[in-house]
Amino acid sequence: MQETTKEYLHEPKYILGMTCLSCDTTVEEQPTYSCTHCGTPGLEITYDYSALRQGISRNDWLKPTNSMWRYANLLPCREFPKTGLFVGATPLINARRLANELGVDSLYIKDDSVNYPTLSYKDRVVATAINKALEFNFQAIGCVSTGNVANSVSALAAAVGLPAFVVIPEGTEEGKIIGSIVYGAQVIKVRGNYDDANRLSREVSQNHGIPFVNINLRSYYSEGAKTVIYEIAEQLGWRLPRHIVLPLAGATLVNKAVKAVGELRKLGLIDDNPVRLYGAQATGSAPIATAFQAGVDEITPVTPNTVARSLAIGNPGDGKAAVRGIRSTDGYISAVSDLEIIAGMKLLASREGIFAEAAGGATMALTKQLIDTGIIPKDEEIAIVVTGNGYKTPEPVMGHIRFVREIDNDVNELLRAIGM
Ligand SMILES: *Cc1c(COP(=O)(O)O)cnc(C)c1O
Ligand SMILES: [Zn+2]
Repeated sequence: MQETTKEYLHEPKYILGMTCLSCDTTVEEQPTYSCTHCGTPGLEITYDYSALRQGISRNDWLKPTNSMWRYANLLPCREFPKTGLFVGATPLINARRLANELGVDSLYIKDDSVNYPTLSYKDRVVATAINKALEFNFQAIGCVSTGNVANSVSALAAAVGLPAFVVIPEGTEEGKIIGSIVYGAQVIKVRGNYDDANRLSREVSQNHGIPFVNINLRSYYSEGAKTVIYEIAEQLGWRLPRHIVLPLAGATLVNKAVKAVGELRKLGLIDDNPVRLYGAQATGSAPIATAFQAGVDEITPVTPNTVARSLAIGNPGDGKAAVRGIRSTDGYISAVSDLEIIAGMKLLASREGIFAEAAGGATMALTKQLIDTGIIPKDEEIAIVVTGNGYKTPEPVMGHIRFVREIDNDVNELLRAIGM
């Protein structure tokens, strides 16, 4: 059994509060979507890095060891987690067959498609937000979601007896809907797309104080995403690959990857070697890639249309920060077509035995594009972050995979079918 004692080195004294990056006001932690002083959305959790630098070391800085809570000193929760204790600590795979196929020296896959309990990177962010919601004493918890956040909220809330409601758009895949209902969550489908569902949810959360993990608890939620980068660094012996390719939709993961790399440097846990970050969008939903490539920060919203439903956010609130963040790392943002996404899913599955959902196919496809165009040199280390599991949503590859060979109940037919 995994360690579940409270004897771990969590020191909430490192949390300084929530800071508005626009007017520089810092306030105590509270559920809010925007700055109470100037109204700018997206308060940033701040920590006392100089105290942290004294208080932690590479080897024994945190327990429990086998989950994302290993990095609790860099997360915004003050109490021992009450749900999601086993989230994170996903494999970092040295993908030799895939590297060979792409003609590169070294390629790793950070495989959050096997994150516990609901098989996507969203378990990290949701676990962080729900534990904070419990600290705030909320009696229910909700989210707006393209599917994976909904699954994670439903499961992690059920595990602690908290009623959950999840708001999803039309067109959410059946597998993801079932993956919320089964836990007993109230599933609410909006007749509209994600951006419509998001606008409605934001209004009720802001005007009525209703707890949504990714609206008025968003500052806490997004912090959980940093643990993907901390884990990669620790799994490589406290260093990062030169190139890290991530999917990009609402931009939580990319923005928090930028923050996490900066924190690891500030804390002296990794050296100052450049780490370039890349964001993968789908051509059917590429508002951030479009802005990046036009050399502007302003995001022009689009109406999404892609097989990668997890990436189908046409009006990403944090898009501007993603453009700036990726630019600051000297990285790149681009989009791939649905056919490239499907090819990417098949490549991950056939070369590495990883069945990723379409977002993983997009990340894979962008990586190939960046290598083929020379943006990523073939002799430099690369990591791909695979964020979701294909078993939930096999729809995109249907019709693009081998047929099932049906035979009579006959040994000779079986031998013939095997080809021996
Ligand atoms: C949410 C999600 C993304 C996009 O992440 P953002 O943080 O919104 O950019 C990518 N892949 C999967 C599987 C997701 O669920
Ligand atoms: Zn402010």
